[in-house]
Amino acid sequence: MLVLAGTSEATDLAGRLDRAGVEVISSLAGVTATPRVRAGRARSGGFGGTAGLVGYLRNERIDALVDATHPFAAVMPFHAADACAYAGVAHCRLLRAPWVPEPGDRWTGAADLVAAAAILGRLEPRRVFLAIGRQSAPAFRRCRQHWFLARSIEPLATPLANCIEVRGRGPFEFDAEVALLLEHRIDLVVTKNAGGVATVAKLAAARSLGLEVVMVERPAAPVGVVEVATDEEACRWVEATVRGAGGGYIPTSPGPGL
Ligand code: NAP
Repeated sequence: MLVLAGTSEATDLAGRLDRAGVEVISSLAGVTATPRVRAGRARSGGFGGTAGLVGYLRNERIDALVDATHPFAAVMPFHAADACAYAGVAHCRLLRAPWVPEPGDRWTGAADLVAAAAILGRLEPRRVFLAIGRQSAPAFRRCRQHWFLARSIEPLATPLANCIEVRGRGPFEFDAEVALLLEHRIDLVVTKNAGGVATVAKLAAARSLGLEVVMVERPAAPVGVVEVATDEEACRWVEATVRGAGGGYIPTSPGPGL
């Protein structure tokens, strides 16, 4: 059983499967120097594209794969879907539900990070809370009129001008989020629509302070893939799959060349 990790749900699923007696391997991209400790075996680093993943699935005799990568992982879900289809491995995606606006929210949607940066580029100088992760911050490097507070688990991949960095890994609490926004006199929040409870407090905090939010929407995902929303559902899918059910994805490309 292979879990493509990178989220708290992936960590929880590894624990759940391990407790259920399922032999689980968690795969990490290797981008975080201090990943969470998890049950079962772990491996780290890319597979070398779809073909590499097909080889890995065969070598390790993987019988089912749960893609529990982040909702903003734009590439791996396609590799997983294609590789599983070619290798004949049952596959599902564990994808938490996106956030939806509530009364009092002042959201402006952005199709992607480039669109979000374009929105900021048109604004007068603001004090911006960037809650988008270390790899995405460079998208805002041309928005030099603004002051940024950037929060990430590890230092930004490329430092931003006019920016203070704070380290943080969810879950975050409402009171602390309000305090952070007030302390830095934030008047605009930029976030990705990651969904889930661990990082939602910033949205409630922004709502309570009447702040605008630029909400970056999720990237495209492969269609026809079985989807579950929680690690509990994923565990049930694994159990059902072991009894014989499979996935429904039909690959659109000619194959990984194996
Ligand atoms: P991505 O664009 O979908 O993937 C880029 C490449 O990284 C993939 O082609 C693959 O390399 C490798 N990769 C990604 N996830 C992997 C995994 N679980 N195990 C082994 N290799 C993996 O993903 P990303 O946006 O760079 O994110 C990298 C990791 O960080 C993912 O695991 C994701 O869940 C996690 N993460 C991402 C975000 C975000 O906002 N993007 C936020 C939080 C966590 P090969 O082609 O060589 O196999």
